[in-house]
Amino acid sequence: MTAADSAHALPVDPPRVRGRFAPSPTGPLHLGSLVAALGSFLAARHQGGEWLVRIEDVDLPRAMPGAADAILRSLERCGLAWDGSVLYQSRRLECYQAALEYLLRAGRAYPCSCTRRELAGSARAHDGSPIYPGRCRTGVRHPDRPHAIRLRVPDVVLAFHDAVQGDYRQRLEQEVGDFVIRRADGLFAYQLAVVVDDAAQGVTQIIRGADLLDSTPRQIYLQGLLAAPTPCYGHLPLVTDGHGDKLSKQTHAPPLDDRAPGPALWTALRFLGQRPPAELAAAPATEILQWALAHWQLQRVPASVTHPWSSPFTGESSPNGLTQAAKVID
Ligand SMILES: [Zn+2]
Repeated sequence: MTAADSAHALPVDPPRVRGRFAPSPTGPLHLGSLVAALGSFLAARHQGGEWLVRIEDVDLPRAMPGAADAILRSLERCGLAWDGSVLYQSRRLECYQAALEYLLRAGRAYPCSCTRRELAGSARAHDGSPIYPGRCRTGVRHPDRPHAIRLRVPDVVLAFHDAVQGDYRQRLEQEVGDFVIRRADGLFAYQLAVVVDDAAQGVTQIIRGADLLDSTPRQIYLQGLLAAPTPCYGHLPLVTDGHGDKLSKQTHAPPLDDRAPGPALWTALRFLGQRPPAELAAAPATEILQWALAHWQLQRVPASVTHPWSSPFTGESSPNGLTQAAKVID
């Protein structure tokens, strides 16, 4: 028997869980992004899986200098250690270009010269963007103009089961329309980059914020076209500010206190429906993580958290509870 034969005869291991956290470097880590980092970390590690970090800096004009390093430093301070090296989307443009050319050659994508103004009267998708009416589907209207590349979507219902949000379905053509995979300014769209990267990195489990739930059918459709496997999904509730808006750099979310990340970790755990003992809130980050790994239960994560949510750590409801847990560095 040759070495190849004996290798072939070995029992096949079940595929290993591989999760990831993929922040955009538009600002430092804050409680909202910490919830996504912690949730994806615990879901993967609790199953003995790997956890990767990818910096989604494909949209370079929005990237803030130094933010990627600051995010990585905060993760380290929280004890959220990742496997392998960090992947930067800005270094992977050739891979996105190859996928784009494949889709164009296969007749799945087409150039579109429509301007925002020309699409202003179109129906709106969930996220407020116009549902593309298909003007360039049979040929680009103005070949002389800069053009985006759109993915042609069929009139099908895409359904999947989300580990946190339950069953989700979307009629791609009616609810989203042919979507942009490379923008007219030459930047690759998030939807294409994320699918190419998850496939290249062998990601099997995607735990991330619920703001990306309605992007998931697009990504599953793209996975099918690129012959990439579809990972399992779980979309975490979003941390909101006092106005019910998603906590983000745009809403001036306070950055994590790198010198003492324990209270924010504890608050993030509570937000994820876990039940850490109150006295743990004052413990070092490593101790909180140890407890979290031993007690993690994905089924306890709520689909949404209504505002204001109560934070027993501070004895107050947010936004003060949040602000106190993730204090601004002075
Ligand atoms: Zn067009």
